[in-house]
Amino acid sequence: MYAERLKETLPRVEERIARALERSGRIGPVRIVAVTKGHPAAAVSAAASAGLTDVGENRVQELDAKRGELEGADSAVTWHLIGHLQRNKARRAIQLFDRIHSIDSLRLAKELSSEAVRAGVTVRGLVQVNVSGEESKGGFDADRAVSEIAQVAALEAVRCEGLMTMAPFSADEDVVRATFIGARELLERCAREGAGLQGAELSMGMSGDFEIAIEEGSTMLRLGTILFGERAQ
Ligand SMILES: *Cc1c(COP(=O)(O)O)cnc(C)c1O
Repeated sequence: MYAERLKETLPRVEERIARALERSGRIGPVRIVAVTKGHPAAAVSAAASAGLTDVGENRVQELDAKRGELEGADSAVTWHLIGHLQRNKARRAIQLFDRIHSIDSLRLAKELSSEAVRAGVTVRGLVQVNVSGEESKGGFDADRAVSEIAQVAALEAVRCEGLMTMAPFSADEDVVRATFIGARELLERCAREGAGLQGAELSMGMSGDFEIAIEEGSTMLRLGTILFGERAQ
């Protein structure tokens, strides 16, 4: 069922990505992170078979269960954590995920770094920034972010490769676009002011707004519904 669906949805999404790149005069790269949260392990296998080897989940427990079910069939998958991480799950998250998009506080970053030191690994991740200022959204406050991002980037075992953000759920395209522009400008400020980022990734854009995100410089789209359909829950 998921393989059939992807055969229809993926080419359409790829076409829309190509057109958005063209419109904005970019040549990319833009990577799709296929978000399988709320879908069974079969969605992961179908994604990997379709060439979508970057896969996103938002909860440690859910991925733990799925990876158990996949029994190694996900060996080609790069796993991205895209949802809020509680500090007491940092150790398990490091074992399960290859990239963490949702480093949303200095306390969490410090916990990740010390767990990574203990495990003898480096955590690759992105700093989540709250550009729109909505209270319901997590992440570093964009106004103060450069100095705080520099503190994350300086941690021993965290390799900070860029920024992640989420736009408000708004039908107003200008509001969405302003959020993505804000993230891009913050990334540029980080580079100018020597925040120490080791990469220039911008994780932004979901099913409803990915074309605007591409136009404003996204390098990683987190796409769930548009590829796999509505989630159960
Ligand atoms: C669920 C989720 C997505 C995917 O959302 P869709 O609208 O289904 O594409 C992207 N990013 C985050 C942080 C999410 O939690």
